Amino acid sequence: MTADQTHADTLIIGSGMAGYTLARELRTLDPETRITVLSADDGAVYSKPMISNAFKQGKTPDTLVQKSAEQMAAELNIEVRPFNRVHTIDRVAKAVSVEGAEGQGLITYTHLVLAVGANPRPYTVDGSDEVALPAVNSLADYGRWRANLKDGARVLIVGAGLIGVEFANDLAVAGYSVTLVDPAPKPLSRLLPDELGQVMQDALTDQGITFYMGRTIARVAQGSHGNTATLDDGTSIAFDTALTAIGLVANTQLAQSAGLEVGRGIRVDALLRTSDPNVFALGDCAETDAGVLPFILPLMGAARALAKTLMGTPTPLSLPALAVTVKTPALPTVVCPPSPGVEGRWVLEGQGQNRRAVFIGQAGEQLGFALTGSETKARQSLSREMPDLLAA
Ligand SMILES: Cc1cc2nc3c(=O)[nH]c(=O)nc-3n(C[C@H](O)[C@H](O)[C@H](O)COP(=O)(O)OP(=O)(O)OC[C@H]3O[C@@H](n4cnc5c(N)ncnc54)[C@H](O)[C@@H]3O)c2cc1C
Repeated sequence: MTADQTHADTLIIGSGMAGYTLARELRTLDPETRITVLSADDGAVYSKPMISNAFKQGKTPDTLVQKSAEQMAAELNIEVRPFNRVHTIDRVAKAVSVEGAEGQGLITYTHLVLAVGANPRPYTVDGSDEVALPAVNSLADYGRWRANLKDGARVLIVGAGLIGVEFANDLAVAGYSVTLVDPAPKPLSRLLPDELGQVMQDALTDQGITFYMGRTIARVAQGSHGNTATLDDGTSIAFDTALTAIGLVANTQLAQSAGLEVGRGIRVDALLRTSDPNVFALGDCAETDAGVLPFILPLMGAARALAKTLMGTPTPLSLPALAVTVKTPALPTVVCPPSPGVEGRWVLEGQGQNRRAVFIGQAGEQLGFALTGSETKARQSLSREMPDLLAA
């Protein structure tokens, strides 16, 4: 790490992909500007998407780490302060208060950037104070979760969305006995039409995964031979380890207590400026006019645009349509869902695992798509037909 600074030209809170990608982009534009990254965690660089594919790729929590905080600091010539949690932002003094191993301190900034991510949506059910129902949204979460996973364990996954099905596929391949429970009728119900959701369910069932779709958990209990989840229809599921994957909530607490405008995320304009012109936000915590987009591609586009803005060239964020690969080797899948609430209908083609679904709006325009199996090769051509999420 470089010498301790008490002032940064750009002070970034968060060492996830958003924070570090911005630091890298800034350093590319300017070799001198003083950049400090503060992180509540250890500041290690890792690819979060690889967590839900780690068994398949032969990765352990340790080998998922690409660089330590020290290596990142040296490589980018920035200051990184791991285990330094920001408690308050004083927007008048342009300073944040941090607490770390060295005690409390104040750091002043010219520009402040919030890259504080999101938190798993809280999940409680009768009995969950006795039986742990953890979520995994960081490498540290994953390390703790995996340390409690016994060989061949029965794993109960709550939530059959993107993260839930990816973990299910990965764990099944690694020899675990996996059960998925979700109140929706089909897996990936927000991303796929029901027909393709069924194709996904069939492909994962072939991997040995058991589904209870259209069901919720009424209660969980500890027993002498493991835990039990009782569903709303009275079905009883025995399990050793649970994983909840019911979505994320943008981390807005720090921004809100600083008096910044928040909605579903920290509200930002096209320049990624919050309601304070010296404070910016990007990544899973930010809400642009396109909504909260907790994915890698939007945060990379945001980091590139914001770095230019902070270096004196105001650059509005533009985002093409967002196509996301669902990392389920049992059924290669790409989704580019229509915006929530938009009117239209799915038009389906293909058979077996090779399906193409295109969402057509009321004026006949293409507003979304979902592809499985060999049809995933149509990703680029269909992406080109999509309207931008945000036009500059
Ligand atoms: C299992 C999994 C699989 C995924 N797969 C994909 C995929 O295939 N494709 C895709 O596009 N996206 C995927 N995503 C989403 C993607 O990983 C995230 O959008 C991205 O990593 C978010 O990065 P971030 O930097 O915004 O947030 P985070 O990585 O959450 O980083 C937030 C940082 O803020 C710090 N922090 C928070 N509060 C404070 C504070 N008060 N003081 C100091 N520091 C603080 C934290 O310590 C952390 O360093 C996946 C997510 C998960 C969980």
